[in-house]
Amino acid sequence: MSVIDEIKDRLDVVEIISESVKLRKAGKSYSGFCPFHSNTRTPAFAVFPDSGTWRCFGACNEGGDILSFVMKKEGWDFPETLAHLAERAGIELEPQSTEQEAADQAQERLRELLESAVTLFRHHLLQTEAGKSVRDYLQQRGITDATIEVFELGYAPDSWDATLNHLLERGYPMEDVQEAGMVSERESGGFYDRFRHRLMFPIRDVRGRMAGFGARVLDPEGVPKYLNSPQTPLFDKGRLLYGLDKARQAIRREDQAVIVEGYMDVIGLHQAGFANAISSMGTALTEAQLRQLKRFSRRIVLALDADAAGVQATMRGLDVARDALDREADPVFNARGLVRHEGRLDADLRIVTLPDGLDPDEVVAQDPEAWKRILGGAQTIVDYVLEVLAAEHDLEDPKAKSAIARQVLPLIDDVANPIERETYRQKLARRLKVDERALSEWRPQAERRTGRQPAEGTGAVEAPARLSATAALEGFCLAILLGDPELLYRIDRSFQSLALERPRERDFESTEHQILFAALRASLAQDETEPIAHWQSNLDEALLQMAHEIKAGLSELDMGSPKLMEELIANFLRLRKHRLENELTHIRFQLEALQEKDDIRPEEERTERMWGLTREVQSLADQRERLDRALTRSSGRLSSSEFAREL
Ligand SMILES: [Zn+2]
Repeated sequence: MSVIDEIKDRLDVVEIISESVKLRKAGKSYSGFCPFHSNTRTPAFAVFPDSGTWRCFGACNEGGDILSFVMKKEGWDFPETLAHLAERAGIELEPQSTEQEAADQAQERLRELLESAVTLFRHHLLQTEAGKSVRDYLQQRGITDATIEVFELGYAPDSWDATLNHLLERGYPMEDVQEAGMVSERESGGFYDRFRHRLMFPIRDVRGRMAGFGARVLDPEGVPKYLNSPQTPLFDKGRLLYGLDKARQAIRREDQAVIVEGYMDVIGLHQAGFANAISSMGTALTEAQLRQLKRFSRRIVLALDADAAGVQATMRGLDVARDALDREADPVFNARGLVRHEGRLDADLRIVTLPDGLDPDEVVAQDPEAWKRILGGAQTIVDYVLEVLAAEHDLEDPKAKSAIARQVLPLIDDVANPIERETYRQKLARRLKVDERALSEWRPQAERRTGRQPAEGTGAVEAPARLSATAALEGFCLAILLGDPELLYRIDRSFQSLALERPRERDFESTEHQILFAALRASLAQDETEPIAHWQSNLDEALLQMAHEIKAGLSELDMGSPKLMEELIANFLRLRKHRLENELTHIRFQLEALQEKDDIRPEEERTERMWGLTREVQSLADQRERLDRALTRSSGRLSSSEFAREL
């Protein structure tokens, strides 16, 4: 039995969910108020002990197993969740390789070293004469003592070796001091303190572990204004977000993350009670950062300075040719990059600009309500760019019209959702007062996707006896797709021809398979790397290993065989059928619960809900019928499948 199966076996889904949701028994299931969307009237959240699953029938319309519940509730990633639940279940996870263990220990040492530097800088800020002027400066900027405490602000003394000597005295070896990014190397040999006479901001990862420092200059003439730790094993500025360790709870609670430009902005906003603010390290937002944020909320607002630099950065980003997108083109904002990340991550990214000359911390210091109003005016990226361009040009000028269209159309093309794309095209046409068809004249030549890696690997899966029938089916489907993600396009087409929604994560029962399937989808939704390389570089360690194991379950069989393709499609259909049947059962439970006498809801609401569920049953039953017909057609031609009989 795999660790995950064992966890599910040993832990009671009702017990775990009860810790955060008040559940009430209703027939075979339990119901309560969904913890993932705000609701107080209809208990639309259900837990099914038999299958070990949960589902929200309300706004979220989501469900899953015990792992996905804990991941969503705590905002943890898969390995974190696995480790936590394994511990609760009293199961030992596989010991790490000695190599991994050594690397972990080395990182742990660097973290301790950085913690020691935090303490040193805090001492210099709070207890020295030189620190007094820095405290005065902070006070003058309205930063309270409590905030200094929470954000652990510090002062790096005006010295070439005070920090270095302190760390060496503490017993840290020179290599570690260097590896942690606390010193710079002299050309003549030897080392000196990287941070001197600066206000220090400790930067922690999402779990609150030390990663590095940001440092603000204190002399008005000093450059650079902000200096960060260099790239180190712990400090990756393309992944870290300042303040996320303190903001994660608020981001989830408010279902919104606000990205501001500077560390002081984050601190000012938190102090004013807006604890969902974070900032990047002064570079353009990366997909890794957005992916991390999305674990807490898919609604992300980017608050940009109003100064011309911000606006120009937008436009510069747009002018950059498609080929050059991978280069770090501009420091803050890259509209096309963001639109693509947004689509790939299925996030909701919006932009606001701040009033002229004001930083977010100044806005809230004047009037906290003003900050809410500003956020309320957030625009989608395309709308924002269109507005900025429209404000800069004379819209009656035909040349200006074509200039705007040429810039905005490629951006619209990058929007993932076809309905949104169409809406933006109409909006652009209206704004420019041209016929929608005329827009196509300004469209750049259609670009062709570059060649993809040919199909790799062959084989059929041997279903280990211990796996449940569904798990084996899921493994089969994933094993083949991991070897050749593009086969998913053919499966999509088959589903479409049956008027069925294309396969989704939810067709897979277990969280780990859902994540792997999502990684496959994501690998196809991008064209920067080969799909295989993409999923391989975007999975956590534990999942990557799982993916390789699943893939290795395949043995000799001709991948190009039409029979195999047919079997793959049939198995996807079986997964869908299984999912529909589960959903039907769940809805029946809900209907039973609605008929219970002690339901406290008003009659009207219950009737309406009953009708809604009945309609859903009808639609699911229709889909199942289409599936059954398709499966009957194909089963005559399938012979080798061990899986065909399983479901
Ligand atoms: Zn919900």
